[in-house]
Amino acid sequence: AGRHRNVQGLVRSRLPHRLVALLEEAGRLADRLNVSLYVVGGCVRDLLLGIENLDLDLVVEGDGILFARKLAEAKQARVKAHDRFGTAIVLLPDGFKLDVATARTEYYEYPTALPTVEQSSIKKDLYRRDFTINALAVRLNAKGFGEVLDFYGGQRDLHDKIVRVLHGLSFVEDPTRVFRAIRFAVRFGFRLGRDTEALIEGAVKMNLFHRLSGHRLLEELKLLLAERDAMQAVKRMADFGLLRFIHPKLGWSSRLQAGLRAAEQALGWYRLLYLDREIAGWLVYVVALLEVLPERAVADVLKRFPFTQAEAAVIRAARLNGQAIVRQLSRRPPPKPAQVYRLLCGLSDETLLGLMARSKAEAIMRAISAFLTTYQHVKPLLTGADLKAMGLKPGPQFKQILDRLLDARLNGEVHTELDERDLAARLMKQNAPPPSR
Ligand code: ATP
Repeated sequence: AGRHRNVQGLVRSRLPHRLVALLEEAGRLADRLNVSLYVVGGCVRDLLLGIENLDLDLVVEGDGILFARKLAEAKQARVKAHDRFGTAIVLLPDGFKLDVATARTEYYEYPTALPTVEQSSIKKDLYRRDFTINALAVRLNAKGFGEVLDFYGGQRDLHDKIVRVLHGLSFVEDPTRVFRAIRFAVRFGFRLGRDTEALIEGAVKMNLFHRLSGHRLLEELKLLLAERDAMQAVKRMADFGLLRFIHPKLGWSSRLQAGLRAAEQALGWYRLLYLDREIAGWLVYVVALLEVLPERAVADVLKRFPFTQAEAAVIRAARLNGQAIVRQLSRRPPPKPAQVYRLLCGLSDETLLGLMARSKAEAIMRAISAFLTTYQHVKPLLTGADLKAMGLKPGPQFKQILDRLLDARLNGEVHTELDERDLAARLMKQNAPPPSR
């Protein structure tokens, strides 16, 4: 594969038809506007790796926003432009999104001059990117459609399975790239280049990560923990001494490894069971990470990183209240289904998986999976309306009786509707207010 390899065939065979047509149309528009147009970044990388990726990032050598507006006009699409950055998002009527950027390499001929766009600007635009494998572009203009621009050896590194930065100051410019490097290496099963590894070690020594806001660090951590092999990602972070940037007390241990493995198993089980349900897997791993920290440290982490309220609630429920729940669930004799239900209802699925991962005891696994698969869907046959028809007067008794009916059903103490009516009648009599004199 030489520098001018053409991947037109790959583009046409791997991308959906609609998309190919869109790219060709965009290329012809670029020709009319007399600008060069490229697709860049992750989409190109994944195209060459044979992995589906429909996140199209376009770069225009010229006015990216003008190009985006013209493209939108032709496609009855909407545009969201960020003038300051020369970028725009094109929203097609079918919901498909395209990112359009202006190749950013304006230089100034003299201090107050307007910036001039250079001919070779795509080359410099690519030079600002994180890794060689992410710094590839494919030309979209009609002349040369499908031509790969590879200035930094990205194709070679894809072939050799290496994540490599483009220059020695890369991590100083943006320390989040350290986490990105690990993320791509783990995702694709790549190595880190030797220089890149040394640069990461340098970045750790220089404590570059303290400069990162909690927000940026959390964003990167989420993405890392959302990888399929999150445990491997955490291991790589640990190898580089990066875990202490989450918390100084956090380090690799067999206990942490066991917790992460349990989180992985719980998530695997859940995803098989509920193919269609979304779950914030990363959060279950966060719970596993924090599990090995003392409570004070967990509080620090909750302070340092801007978790949403819902996320913090998951962490608190699994980490801070988890102990009590786990203790109750592992009592002898084992709690009845209704007690399990009362302990677990109202907890998010992430919290439940976090609890599963933290305890690993057979009894707990069984209780939580019974709750998820069965108990949480159980309802009494009678409704409030039935109770009303039985003569119950409005008041707090409705909820109490319905709760008792649910418990009885969960514990298998009632089966038929008649059983429930009997029980309801008994409860109504027991709790009936004393007859007024
Ligand atoms: P993913 O499949 O995880 O989305 P991606 O490569 O598409 O991977 P994005 O975060 O969407 O990742 O970034 C798109 C492109 O922008 C990258 O391929 C890279 O060229 C560039 N990029 C993103 N983040 C950085 C960064 N921190 N520093 C330099 N370049 C970056």
